[in-house]
Amino acid sequence: MSMLIEEGRTEAMAAARFAGPTLQLIRGAVAENLRRMRTGGPVMAVVKADGYGHGALAVASAAVDAGAEWLGVTDVAEGAVLRGGGIEAPILAWLHPAGIDVVAAVRNRIDVAVGSVDELAELIDDAGVAGLVDEGARVRVHLHLDTGMARGGCPVRDWDRMLQLARRGRDAGLLRIVGVMGHLPQADLADPRANVPWVMRLQHARDTALRAGLAPLIAHLGATSAALSDPSTRFDLVRVGAGLVGIDPSRTVELAPAGRFTAPVVHSAEVDAGTPVGYGGAHVADRRTRISVLGVGYADGIPRELSREACVEIGGRRHRVIGRVSMDQIVVDTGDASFPRGSVATVFGPGGIAPTVQEWGDWAGTIPHTIVTGIGARVARTVA
Ligand SMILES: *Cc1c(COP(=O)(O)O)cnc(C)c1O
Repeated sequence: MSMLIEEGRTEAMAAARFAGPTLQLIRGAVAENLRRMRTGGPVMAVVKADGYGHGALAVASAAVDAGAEWLGVTDVAEGAVLRGGGIEAPILAWLHPAGIDVVAAVRNRIDVAVGSVDELAELIDDAGVAGLVDEGARVRVHLHLDTGMARGGCPVRDWDRMLQLARRGRDAGLLRIVGVMGHLPQADLADPRANVPWVMRLQHARDTALRAGLAPLIAHLGATSAALSDPSTRFDLVRVGAGLVGIDPSRTVELAPAGRFTAPVVHSAEVDAGTPVGYGGAHVADRRTRISVLGVGYADGIPRELSREACVEIGGRRHRVIGRVSMDQIVVDTGDASFPRGSVATVFGPGGIAPTVQEWGDWAGTIPHTIVTGIGARVARTVA
């Protein structure tokens, strides 16, 4: 008797529980995309913004296992997390929103890019104060040149001063100058002509650095779009991020979708024609139909501003999102189909029926990058 109750209870509990919103990283797709973007030389897998939303360590390890030689992040702390997760490949951090922690950079073997004379001077000061020379440790530095964006990187007119200072830091035993880098402004344009001035500018900057006695150096410039479309931008290394998770900013190459974003049906109902659905009655049912509520909303990264085409896949078919997107839920019109609680809806994913991240970007009037990086913290991250 008590045995039966136990069993009955376990079943009832199993029926009341199901997976919440989940973003699953498809490692095989990362590997395939990396191969597509390999251009002969080494590849840096960029995993900033938590691996474009898919989990930095998970994307990094999938990329390294598929042969990525380098990893790229925004700051030293992000790199330290990768080291903590067992990543051994060289790591470069380039933006430093909280400044550069030289000690953490050296301890975690993280290269840093610097993009101004001031930033380099501060780095040298900090390295001196940290007493690195006594340990025989040097900060590994990439000199970041502005290649046409005026958003980051040393302006051309300061480049000679940058080189002089870099040499002083090296001669003082504080720095090892490892590379020179730029970043292209035309990320979503597969037009090699647009890149010509910036390729020439980086070539020239590298040559002057070599003449200033800073050999050996690696030079790097291109990201996903350039790696896929413009061999002249390749230099010694390409830095690819969006492409790893299946986004081609230039929309010219079909990459493998590397994420499957699913959410459960938490409620289903039949509604009559004329029934307002969701906040403000922004949608009114135009016929008797069935609806399903999914437990995922704008707090999870579903954009609130969506066109009427937005849909999800449930049971092998697409169903339109209706009404306002709420913080924790969206409603879909499933027509004649009825889906029980716990049914799995695919917000985006591979396979052709489920929407793509690119479609979500279009429906929200944005780029797919903002969709993936906007996926909220309570969406579980898993790996396939
Ligand atoms: C984000 C970033 C990249 C990667 O760009 P994708 O277009 O996502 O491949 C490369 N380099 C720098 C400096 C970046 O900030």
